[in-house]
Amino acid sequence: MEKEVLEKYKKSGDVAARAKILAKKEIKDNTKALDLVENIENFIKKEADLAFPVNLSINDMAAHCTPDFDDQTVLKTGDLVKLDLGTQVDGYIADTSVCVRIGESSDPLIKASQDALDSFIKELSPGKTIGELSTLVDEIVVSHGFNPVRNLAGHSLDQYTQHGHLSIPNNKSTLQYKFKEDDVIAMEVFTTNGEGWVVESSPTLIYMFVKLGAIRLKESKFVLKKVVENYKTLPFAKRWLRDTCNPVSLHMALKELVTKGIIVEYPPLREKAHGDVAQTEETLIVKDKPIITTKN
Ligand code: MN
Ligand code: MN
Repeated sequence: MEKEVLEKYKKSGDVAARAKILAKKEIKDNTKALDLVENIENFIKKEADLAFPVNLSINDMAAHCTPDFDDQTVLKTGDLVKLDLGTQVDGYIADTSVCVRIGESSDPLIKASQDALDSFIKELSPGKTIGELSTLVDEIVVSHGFNPVRNLAGHSLDQYTQHGHLSIPNNKSTLQYKFKEDDVIAMEVFTTNGEGWVVESSPTLIYMFVKLGAIRLKESKFVLKKVVENYKTLPFAKRWLRDTCNPVSLHMALKELVTKGIIVEYPPLREKAHGDVAQTEETLIVKDKPIITTKN
């Protein structure tokens, strides 16, 4: 890996690591979800760029939740909160999360995902296969008495691409891809006391640009221009577009862009049996001993 690229990954990871420390302090009883998410996004924007909207998923919601601009949710004691954040420097991404059970200093479900990720990192080196390491993750989660979420996975990262070509399952697999030096991956382990499967939920508040195409509405053209200029091929939140046009027009524009295949939706993902879901994620650069960019 070129030295400048490595430095950008490290800088991105450092901002992400400090954003996590701030997030951990603010995830507490009575915090308003929208304020929390906007505080973290503003903190990141002071030193780097956002790689995607801060996700805040609570209890049986596993991923892809972010508040709308009028969201009134308030965190409360007992909530299992996953805050997933992404930073980027010139498109070099750090993707990581914090997970807290409000009112508890430890939680068995969080411990299971943390232990499984720690073991994954310990065993990760060039030549290891995805199959070996995803099977290890599965075994550790099961040894804690929980299920891994089988349809969520870690992934590789590329410049301006949050989900690269590699997928690293949370459960047993026989995938033969061998990790190689300088692969950049965001490994994330999701654990649950439910079935271990997530289903799509609503409302969708996160989207991503994929390709240009013909559009009809004037508002869609405004929205698309702003998206392409500011967020490129990285995910964005509906609330980031609140100043583009009025709420009804924004709704219509996003709908048209989705229908035409110009942007894709990331609907919220909920555990099928309404089990609680915990998540632990770090960004890693594969070396004989991996660099954890998102830990400081
Ligand atoms: Mn993430
Ligand atoms: Mn990720």
